Amino acid sequence: MNSRNEALFQRAQRTIPGGVNSPVRAFRSVGGTPRFIERAEGARVWDADGKVYIDYVGSWGPAITGHAHPAIVEAVREAALKGLSFGAPTASEVDMAELICELLPSVDMVRLVSSGTEATMSAIRLARGHTGRDAIIKFEGCYHGHADSLLVKAGSGLLTFGNPSSGGVPADFAKHTIVLDYNDLDQAEAVFKARGDEIAAVIVEPVAGNMNLVKPRAGFLEGLRRLCTQYGAVLIFDEVMTGFRVGPQGAQGLYCITPDLTTLGKVIGGGMPVGAFGGRRDIMEKIAPLGPVYQAGTLSGSPVAVAAGMASLRLTREAGFYDALAARAARLADGLSAAAREAGVSFSADAVGGMFGVYFSAGVPASFADVMASDRERFNRFFHAMLEAGHYFAPSAFEAGFVSAAHGEAEIDATVAAARAVFAALR
Ligand code: PLP
Repeated sequence: MNSRNEALFQRAQRTIPGGVNSPVRAFRSVGGTPRFIERAEGARVWDADGKVYIDYVGSWGPAITGHAHPAIVEAVREAALKGLSFGAPTASEVDMAELICELLPSVDMVRLVSSGTEATMSAIRLARGHTGRDAIIKFEGCYHGHADSLLVKAGSGLLTFGNPSSGGVPADFAKHTIVLDYNDLDQAEAVFKARGDEIAAVIVEPVAGNMNLVKPRAGFLEGLRRLCTQYGAVLIFDEVMTGFRVGPQGAQGLYCITPDLTTLGKVIGGGMPVGAFGGRRDIMEKIAPLGPVYQAGTLSGSPVAVAAGMASLRLTREAGFYDALAARAARLADGLSAAAREAGVSFSADAVGGMFGVYFSAGVPASFADVMASDRERFNRFFHAMLEAGHYFAPSAFEAGFVSAAHGEAEIDATVAAARAVFAALR
């Protein structure tokens, strides 16, 4: 095949495991050749063969203002001219911390890191250090990065130990992670009743975006808040994806819940490597150098990355930003649903702020089991036909999609029009 994407993929596989630096990029779930991206601007990405796509991956969330926004690129350029990193504090980190604390009322203090994984890993350590307990609760289908204690799947029963979901994770680590069903508050209640004094933290994606998009059922997050308060566990909202994505105060603002700790990433880096964890002052004061819980990073608070993040956050604060973003995501979800209905294809779609989900199932899923029951083979055919037509959706039936401020009605309508033809062929 005379394709640069194919040639690059062949070449990449000789020196990079699977040809990629993060597994989902390899298209294993959908099959075929990953597109090697050469450049991106606004709502579009261009691949190595020069083909252009309307992009609904958005770098997996960070590109909320559209790719290569001139204000972000300029902020990065200006910061880079002053030096790339110093390993010493800078004023821009203080600005960023102040802005995050101002935007999220639950956050009294915040520590910057370089990825979402670092943020969640550190938040878990901090919760354990704060409570003096070892066990944590997570939910099946939620992804919190690749720290050992978070790569765990459910054991055989509710109260049994979790099992590693990755090679290389010792069973001795996994046994401290209890994995429950998302949106099942009764289960969480039962576990707290039995083991409440062992549980250091509950970590949850307040809107799940790593098993496609699954919204929290009414009362689920409130119930977790109540249980954590009652049993002295730390409630961690993993807002790496939802933070400044589903609304100006993330999911915690949308659902009016105050977590003890929040983890952030993606949007707060504007496309550069930034993560953060923050929350209650009495908990955050347990972090080194104030307290006994160690956490550090050579490039933490990188001035270039922080400049990109600050520019990105500033753009999201413009009047009407989130209303417009949510309107675009809803227009896409509604348009795709209507097109599928016309074609008689079993399909549903949903959106929260600038995130959306597409499901090859009659109803919108409310659990991991619902998501797993959707028609994956049909999704894969949809994905490839849309890609061919120039619309780049996430290459897996189990990922949420993202729109940006650069996705205008014209882009959304073009995608819906393409989907209408694809659904007709899928019938
Ligand atoms: N938490 C959530 C909710 C995520 O979606 C992700 C990444 O997709 C992470 C944590 C890990 O972030 P990173 O990939 O920056 O390590």
